[in-house]
Amino acid sequence: MSLIHLKSVSLQLGRVQALRQVDLSLDQGEIVTVVGESGCGKSTLGRTVLGLYQPTEGQVFYGQQDIFAPGFRMSDQLRLSVQVVHQDSYASLNPVRRVGQQLAAPLKRHKLPGEVHEILTQVGLTPPEYFAAKLPFQLSGGQRQRVSLARAALLRPRLIVADEPVSGVDATLRLAILDLMRRLNQEGIAFLYITHDLATARYLGRGGRMLVMYVGQVIQSGPVEKLLDNPLHPYLQALLAALPPLDPRRAREQKPLPLRSLDMPDATNPPSGCSFHPRCPYARQRCSQERPQLRQLQGQEVACHFAEQLTEQPASSEGN
Ligand code: SF4
Repeated sequence: MSLIHLKSVSLQLGRVQALRQVDLSLDQGEIVTVVGESGCGKSTLGRTVLGLYQPTEGQVFYGQQDIFAPGFRMSDQLRLSVQVVHQDSYASLNPVRRVGQQLAAPLKRHKLPGEVHEILTQVGLTPPEYFAAKLPFQLSGGQRQRVSLARAALLRPRLIVADEPVSGVDATLRLAILDLMRRLNQEGIAFLYITHDLATARYLGRGGRMLVMYVGQVIQSGPVEKLLDNPLHPYLQALLAALPPLDPRRAREQKPLPLRSLDMPDATNPPSGCSFHPRCPYARQRCSQERPQLRQLQGQEVACHFAEQLTEQPASSEGN
């Protein structure tokens, strides 16, 4: 049984169709990575998993419980089982309370076992008495993010939704934070890792599953390595082609995919058919008329009518 299961979830936020028929399941101890550009719906998906948005259509299950079923009220225990770590650790910590107080308060409130110095040591903030006495502004971005992770983990959650947790952290400290998340995962905490950064997605998400989102829709999903090594959807191909190659000897082989437009579509008025068709170099007539559904292909799921026919050369003429 899944820890969390989103079943065909759609969400309308004002004039924006923020999520469209998203299916997501997350098992105990798993890391699932969600990638996409800003505005693709990945943070909205995270907030839906946290129970902060009620879907317009579809259901959100924690275990077997539909958390938005009429008459159901989430217990504290269920609510605490899913925690969040945001990009902006400064905003999520109380600026006038010392780190030690911020960690002690939830332990006391929820009568949880654990001790502040021990928790700080576990997340690499040593000597703990030194960091416990600090105010958030006296810490670096990386140290603050460790405090945020410590605060989330001390509640003994089954899942942490980590929304761009290393975006505000110096590049040199990113790996240390990702390694800390990996260690917490090995201790049994599942992660929904939300990022625009494919390099950290590959690093943290290795061995796990990945979802690629575009304009509120999942357009590709499957094992992380499979997606990144053999991207079937032109959108993921374009994202990867824009990255510097890991192996400099391959720099000359790697050509950027010539997108027809660099702009994301207007989410209040998404394109007909395949949302990617105004930008897709392979787009054909059918693409603007018929929305592609996710379907199985080569061990992945992809929403593209022509995924098996795409060659390295974009189509130059229209046709079916
Ligand atoms: S369905 Fe058409 S427009 Fe969409 S990604 Fe595939 S080829 Fe491109």
